[in-house]
This record gives sequence, structure tokens and C-alpha cells, in this order.
Amino acid sequence: MQTEFDLIIIGAGCAGLSLGTRLAALHAEAPKTLLLESRIAYDNDRTWCFWGDAQTPFATLARHSWQRFSVKQGLHSTLIDCASTPYRMLSAADFYAQAIDAITSNAALTLQMGASLTAEPGFAEGTWLLHTTAGSFSAKAIVDTRPLPIEQMSDTTLWQSFLGCELEFEEPRFDSKSAQLMDFYQANQAFVGFVYVLPVSTTRALVEFTVFAPRIFEHAELLSYLESQVVNLAQERPYKTQRTEYGLIPMGLGRPVHPAQDTASPPSYVRVGLTAGAARPATGYAFQRIQRWASACAQSLQTTGIPVGHPQDSFAIRQMDAIFLNVLRHHPELGPELFMRLFSKVDSAKLIRFLSDRGSVSDYLAVILALPSGLFLKSAYQLATKK
Ligand SMILES: Cc1cc2nc3c(=O)[nH]c(=O)nc-3n(C[C@H](O)[C@H](O)[C@H](O)COP(=O)(O)OP(=O)(O)OC[C@H]3O[C@@H](n4cnc5c(N)ncnc54)[C@H](O)[C@@H]3O)c2cc1C
Repeated sequence: MQTEFDLIIIGAGCAGLSLGTRLAALHAEAPKTLLLESRIAYDNDRTWCFWGDAQTPFATLARHSWQRFSVKQGLHSTLIDCASTPYRMLSAADFYAQAIDAITSNAALTLQMGASLTAEPGFAEGTWLLHTTAGSFSAKAIVDTRPLPIEQMSDTTLWQSFLGCELEFEEPRFDSKSAQLMDFYQANQAFVGFVYVLPVSTTRALVEFTVFAPRIFEHAELLSYLESQVVNLAQERPYKTQRTEYGLIPMGLGRPVHPAQDTASPPSYVRVGLTAGAARPATGYAFQRIQRWASACAQSLQTTGIPVGHPQDSFAIRQMDAIFLNVLRHHPELGPELFMRLFSKVDSAKLIRFLSDRGSVSDYLAVILALPSGLFLKSAYQLATKK
């Protein structure tokens, strides 16, 4: 027995729940929607950080925000003022709870936990058919947020691998008004590494070790780097580890996210999320891009019944990000210096707008002028002549 829906969202993580929240806000006009999630329950598995003013989606749900942050390499440190668009930290537990509240308050939406697909969706006579561990369902449209298997992503330019832990010290240890965005690990030819410290109080902070590299760094490999950073930070003072998080973000997807002629699927099926264009290639930031997509997708579903995928980045962003990632891939030893140049030479408001996809032409120019032209022209030539 099948239940017919207007829309099925496969995967109710950040992208699925963000779209679900937008649809729930349509009240009686919400399409009949099923969200299928393989997890049995949510836990506080990640934190999302982003720059934004009070109007930015989920800004007011963020537990902590910083009006300044530092970037550091050895003895050189730059303090950046971001008071107009504070750096905000949103806890996954708070996001999940608010999204589930919104979704369950609208009878048109159903969240089915513990449901995995037993076969790929089939399409016949204008309808999608899904067989899952929770039963069979059909729908007019599908939004698929499942991440692609890593084996299908071998042409990713760089991987951002990170391991973090939330530490609670017995005595005051941090300045909770200032975040440390990047403190670079020694320059080397294998990866760009840095630690970031996000203090939520004088005694508690999220400490994360991050690596940008052509290959994936597994949890176990990152652990030794993180541990030595924590030892440095603790200086033998007692602390407790409250929570850990590991993450992997593709930076620069090899295959085009928007193939010119994608005839493989009808337009009623879109792939979205982290491995389908949600992440900004040069930074890995995805949360606010997912919010902008969710808003556009809900609007499209309301007006046409057809979902949309992530919009393509502008030509300028695509080229700049590809060149930057290509430089880091071939010269990771230059990474710390390049980031230091960006943060110390570019006006902070311009840089934050550029990093948050809100840059103007003059912001792009400021970023280009801060970087070594010879190296970047060579990289541009390398990409242009790549077969
Ligand atoms: C630890 C961590 C920290 C991050 N921090 C930031 C940050 O600070 N700022 C930022 O901008 N971005 C950040 N990101 C990147 C990005 O915002 C997140 O990865 C975000 O969760 C991506 O959303 P998504 O919906 O694509 O994937 P997910 O949130 O992972 O959702 C995918 C969902 O699909 C479900 N699923 C998988 N397979 C199936 C199946 N077969 N059937 C049904 N359901 C399935 C999964 O259980 C999951 O719930 C972070 C990522 C991680 C991993």
C-alpha cells in the first residue's frame, strides 16, 4: 500500500529540515510532504558557524556570537572586527529541535525517522516510487539530500577534514568575546592545518583541528594533532571533554554540479546538500547557502510544484575559488601565508562579504589585489589548459 505525497525529502539533516521548516511556514498552502530520515534520533552532532546580522536565518537561535576574531601564524596575529556581522555559533541540537517543532506543527508534513531507502527511487508515469524500510511511498517530486558516497568524489580538489572537542576548564581560561578563527600549524607540503578556538564562556570552548588536503584525514589521524593542540592550550590546567565532532567537507567538487544538459532525471528530482553544491568551494561554509536554497526551493514548490537545486555560483566566484583551491592543492606550504595576507590586507567587511557570498565587484578586487599575482596567474593558466 503506497501513500501519495506532493514531495518526498530524502534525508532530514540540515538541508532537509531547512526546507521542511520553510514549507511548514506556508501553513495551509504547504505541499503534502514526507521527510525520510535514516537516523532513529537526533543528537548534538555538530555546530554551525556563520557571519550574519540579526536578520540572517537562525541568527537569533545561535547560542554565542563574537564581534571580533583573530587569525594567527606563529608570532604574527591579526585581530578582525566583525561587529556589524558577528560570527555566530549555532548548536545542531537547537536547530534540530526548532525545525522539528515547526514541521510537526503543520499536518501537511510528516517526519519519518529510522527510514532508509531499500532501492533507488523509480519513476513511472509522472510519479516517483520509493521503497523504504518504513514502507513504500509515492510522490510527484523528490528532494534528495543524501550525501554521495566518497568513492564517487575522487576528483574533489581538496578535502576539509576536522576534529573538534568542547572543553570545560575548572578555572577561567578564555576571552569569550573573541574567537580564534585560524591559528596555523607549521607550514608543510602535505596540508594546510590550523586550530580554531571558539570560547562560549571564560571556562568553555570548542577547539577544532582542521586540515585542507588533497586526501581525507580520518578521525584517528586528526586525533594526535588535536590532542597536542589541547595540551598546548591547557598548560596543565584541569579540564573535561564534553563532546567531540568530526567532519569532512568537499572543497571544489570535480564534476559539474550543474551539467549543461542533465537529462538523466526529470526536473521533479533534485539532489542538494553538502555533496551537491551546498558548500562554498573555497571555504566549505554551507549553512547559510542551504538556508538561501531552502527559501528559493520552498517558493518554487509553492508556485510550480517543482523543486530547485542549489544555484550556480557567479562566474567570478567559480573562477576565484577554483584558482585558490588549485594553489592550495599544489602549494599547501603557502597556505598559512596566503590566508594571513587575506585577513591582514583586505578590509574585514569586504572579506566577510566575499566569504559569505555577498561580495561586490570591489570586494572581489580587494581579495585579488591581496594575493600574489604571479602564483595565481600561473594557477589560472594551469586550470585553463587542463584537459
Ligand atoms: C561536524 C560538522 C561541522 C560543520 N560546521 C559547519 C559550519 O560551522 N558552518 C557551515 O557553514 N557548514 C558547516 N558544516 C557543513 C554543512 O553545513 C553540514 O555538513 C550540513 O549538515 C550539510 O547539510 P546536509 O543536509 O547536506 O547534510 P546532513 O546535515 O548530513 O543531512 C543529511 C541527512 O541525510 C540522512 N541520510 C543519509 N542517508 C540516508 C538514506 N539512505 N535515507 C534517509 N536518510 C539518509 C542523514 O542521516 C542526514 O540526517 C559542518 C559539517 C560537519 C559535518
